[in-house]
Amino acid sequence: MSGETRAAYTKHDPLYPGFINVTEDESSITITMRGDPKVVSGSFLCGFAHERGLPGRCTPGDPNCNNYCNHDDNQPMPDSPAPSSQTICGDTVQLTLTKLEWLALKGKF
Ligand SMILES: [Zn+2]
Repeated sequence: MSGETRAAYTKHDPLYPGFINVTEDESSITITMRGDPKVVSGSFLCGFAHERGLPGRCTPGDPNCNNYCNHDDNQPMPDSPAPSSQTICGDTVQLTLTKLEWLALKGKF
């Protein structure tokens, strides 16, 4: 995409902040927008060693692991896995308007 940015705004969420960007070229205006991030609840599930630190994953013995996988035979298996939450990046969409369509939109502000 080439063109000159006319306006842009990014929110202040610490992870995957939503944003809007308006870019203009010779014949059109392109508006790009990413929605707000979503926080979803889940559970920590034991993974492999290389998955340590990934969202919703624990490895036996790490601080989030409650031994639900029961890999540690010396620890009791709990009734349920530990709760976790994960931030999901919002969808990004792009809309391209002709100059006439853009002017018609601006007239509504
Ligand atoms: Zn675990």
